[in-house]
Amino acid sequence: MAESWKKTACILCSVNCGIEVLVEERNLVRIRGDKAHPTSAGYACEKAQQLDWYQNGRDRLTSPLRRRPDGSFEPVDWDTAIGEIAERLSRVRDTFGGDTILYYGGGGQGNHLPGPYAMATRAALGSVYASNALAQEKTGEFWVDGRLFGRQRCHTSPDFEHAEVAVFIGKNPWQSHGFPRARAVLREIARDPQRTLVVIDPRRTETADLADYHLQVAPGTDAFCLAALLGAVVQENLVDHAFLAEHATGFEALRDALATVPVDDFAERAGVDPGIVREVARRIARASSVSMLEDLGIQQAPHSTLNSYLEKSLYLLTGNFAHRGAMNLHSRLASLLGTREGTTPVGGHRIITSLIPANVIPDEILTDHPKRFRAMFVESANPAHSLADSSRMREALAALDTLVVVDVAMTETARLAHYVLPAASQFEKWEATFFNLEFPRNSFHLRAPLLEPLAGTLPEPEIHRRLVRALGALRDEDLVPLHEAAALIPTAGRLPYAAAFQRVMAASPKLAALAPVVLYETLGPMLPDGAASAAVLWGAAHQFAARSPESLRRAGFNGPAPVAAEKLFDAILSSRSGVTFSVDEYAETWNRLETADRKIHLDVPEMLDELRSLERESPAAADAEFPFVLAAGERRTSTANTIFRDPSWRRKDAGGALRISTPDAERLGLADGAMARVTTRRGAAEAVVEVTDTLRPGHATLPNGLGTSHRGEDGRDVVSGVAPNELTASEDRDWLAGTPWHKHVRARIEAV
Ligand code: SF4
Repeated sequence: MAESWKKTACILCSVNCGIEVLVEERNLVRIRGDKAHPTSAGYACEKAQQLDWYQNGRDRLTSPLRRRPDGSFEPVDWDTAIGEIAERLSRVRDTFGGDTILYYGGGGQGNHLPGPYAMATRAALGSVYASNALAQEKTGEFWVDGRLFGRQRCHTSPDFEHAEVAVFIGKNPWQSHGFPRARAVLREIARDPQRTLVVIDPRRTETADLADYHLQVAPGTDAFCLAALLGAVVQENLVDHAFLAEHATGFEALRDALATVPVDDFAERAGVDPGIVREVARRIARASSVSMLEDLGIQQAPHSTLNSYLEKSLYLLTGNFAHRGAMNLHSRLASLLGTREGTTPVGGHRIITSLIPANVIPDEILTDHPKRFRAMFVESANPAHSLADSSRMREALAALDTLVVVDVAMTETARLAHYVLPAASQFEKWEATFFNLEFPRNSFHLRAPLLEPLAGTLPEPEIHRRLVRALGALRDEDLVPLHEAAALIPTAGRLPYAAAFQRVMAASPKLAALAPVVLYETLGPMLPDGAASAAVLWGAAHQFAARSPESLRRAGFNGPAPVAAEKLFDAILSSRSGVTFSVDEYAETWNRLETADRKIHLDVPEMLDELRSLERESPAAADAEFPFVLAAGERRTSTANTIFRDPSWRRKDAGGALRISTPDAERLGLADGAMARVTTRRGAAEAVVEVTDTLRPGHATLPNGLGTSHRGEDGRDVVSGVAPNELTASEDRDWLAGTPWHKHVRARIEAV
């Protein structure tokens, strides 16, 4: 039998490399990089080889489940489940208001189509509050983007392919990637004597091993190191004044705050050599191009939002913006980021990009406040495992009137639900990622299914269609004009449908709020190969054509905006490797600034106040009871996200070792393979020890992705490794964005 390779994408990290898969029966037996993929171009790391552990995990769900009074589950048919969920959520809406129904999730690293379809369900319910993993990581950065560039979704893209100097801050792209072909690009930079690799990280990571400069800061002192770098830039007059004069306002305020930063003192407080800090500042300032990437190492640590502001200030003061090899504002076909700001109903916490801080969710439930959240709809997410303080999160979920979970597997959150709805896997349905974050060429990959859905499961767009119908939000007569226009598509194309769609949406804001499901029901059946779930992308293509006609034209999609949009949509539907939808010139970055005066606004008073307060802070203040800083959730070769529930995929480090430094191990009498107890203010756990010379004394790490329960071969559930959030506390978070300090958990370690 001839081998049949099918194209899709890896769904384990945000890069979503294109892959080709050899499918036998229902197994993904061989996997290789897809050379035709416009972004990854054949690259794939070794983790992609393991995707069958997700597709064929023993924990796959095959029937809707309803909780019995004793806490066990009984299978029910889809009609029963959808009808009862609609009835329960309607009751919450009608009694307390739709704003007491919180939506959490919306897709993992590779499945983002549920998000827009869920918007229709949420509109039908009046659910206005949402959160997801981004509110555990990036919302501080988005807030800073909003202040600097005008809108919180003005998102920058680094250009490491061409950068003379590459800077990674709290980021180990060797393991966590974050940009295309990460390992290949890192090797290219490391090999080139004209280029420089800088890593700021308390761990000596694989990336740090390749670096020209590794500033191995003490855990939690990133803000001091970044402030010292910026202080040197200002005090040694390494600033790109011409760039700032033309493109920025507010430099004077930032300059004044940095002019008094005690550079050598701050470097020493961060545990790094002041001379090296100054050398790095000069190297950055004198380079023709610099790209930077910050990640969870600084975003989930003290001064999270300030860290983002300082990182961005570093490339902006040195003029590394809007040119080749530097930072640019990328296009977006579909965006993950909402536009809502405001505050949460109970605690008044800041909402950023439409997301409430994940860490405050229990506080917004476990209260007698009349506007507390009373129901949650959780989709492709596992907050009982992934949010801080799991035990309090479980208590909060258990206190809800109704908890509905949509997922492929029985997760920790699903176990607490009133209803669990089984989704088809990402390889059994049309799917896409909205991580379209590249510049100057940006691409989008609609993935065709490799397999039929597992019996009993449904794709999320169909789940939301059924919910919207069951909620009585959509009537057949509303859709008659659109069905009529859709019937003409085979002979007249989609433009008459587009005109009808605009008319119907303009006439009824209520229907417009349900637009994704309206498209799914009317345009969806006319799409080839059963790609009804892609209907929502038709709208995205038209919006992009109206917003960025030049970028679209440069990508080869010509004609008036509606015509170019239709060409783009056809290409998205027919390409199995993905489509380049946007090609930019570097100057396009200036068009994407959304400040009223089209300038970068450097003066951010909240950040300048926090910057000035650093001098009064003593980062080295020891905690006698909890002398270690634990990074709860380190990415390693042997870890992925929790869509792999079966630990057997890990060939090394199966139990997820606790890494500690050699001096600490000697002091505590611990050796490789010994058992240690980690105790924090919130909990305790035991783990096997791995002694390493990559950590500073006083620093310890546990891997991410462990501690999930999994059905063993004997049918019984087993938990392997430490669930990091059994150790974290929800009050340990950034004062502004609420992002958790998962990389900075005070802990005590003892031999068992
Ligand atoms: S880099 Fe990310 S998306 Fe690409 S193969 Fe590795 S884990 Fe998958």
